[in-house]
Amino acid sequence: MPELAEVEHSRRVWERGRGRKVLSVTVNNTSSPVWRGAPATHVKKVLSGKSFTGSEAHGKQMLFRFGRRVWIGIHLGMTGELRIEPAAYEIRKHDHLVLRQAGQCLVFSDQRRFGRLRLSQGTAAPIWWSKLPPPILSRGFTAALVADFCHRRKGSPLKSLLLMQQRFPGIGNWMADEILWRARLYPKLRAGQLPAAGITKLYRSIRSVTASAVDLLSKDWELPDNWLFRHRWNKGGKCPRCRTLLIREKIGGRTSCWCPVCQADQ
Ligand SMILES: [Zn+2]
Repeated sequence: MPELAEVEHSRRVWERGRGRKVLSVTVNNTSSPVWRGAPATHVKKVLSGKSFTGSEAHGKQMLFRFGRRVWIGIHLGMTGELRIEPAAYEIRKHDHLVLRQAGQCLVFSDQRRFGRLRLSQGTAAPIWWSKLPPPILSRGFTAALVADFCHRRKGSPLKSLLLMQQRFPGIGNWMADEILWRARLYPKLRAGQLPAAGITKLYRSIRSVTASAVDLLSKDWELPDNWLFRHRWNKGGKCPRCRTLLIREKIGGRTSCWCPVCQADQ
């Protein structure tokens, strides 16, 4: 499932169409649940002829603005994908929305249909967007918020805590493992048992992994060899820091990966 950094990458793909007018709109698979927040015929009508004027990503959500008053929200779900295709592109089976511009097409496709399109109209961003929690790289995301959340969810293992979207929007399985590995925290440690110094380490790691992942993935879609990510799925994968064999085990139903030396159970 796409996480924050992959979502930001997708947004930047469509961003290449910013400033250009939508010449024609093709809607497809219109009975798919992907369309539940955006009636397809309506989307076609309101987007035709509008310029693509702006975009933003927030956790796993994206918002695209057309003209001054039309907003399209996109959630990629499990398999959603934003692409740029040539102007002569012909629609394919899993495509849901194709926006034809001069010289190119913006395409949203979703094979497994867990994604979501939303249409809103008005000069201000839609209400659902303004209600999202502070983005991780914003000033509103503070160590105090993390400390408060650890206190409120004191029985949750750190790994499960980081997957709670109401506080950590856009963090998914691999990012959560990376964050805990960098902070040298045991993923099964209960949030309430984390001392103040641990909360500071956790907060810093959340911010730095997020910032680096967005930066690296937006450039060349590659993470360096000193990231846990590069080793976590390999059979016999070793910790890139201390070369110990990594552990893989389910925590809260999600396969987790950690180093038993760097992230020892204190
Ligand atoms: Zn290690």
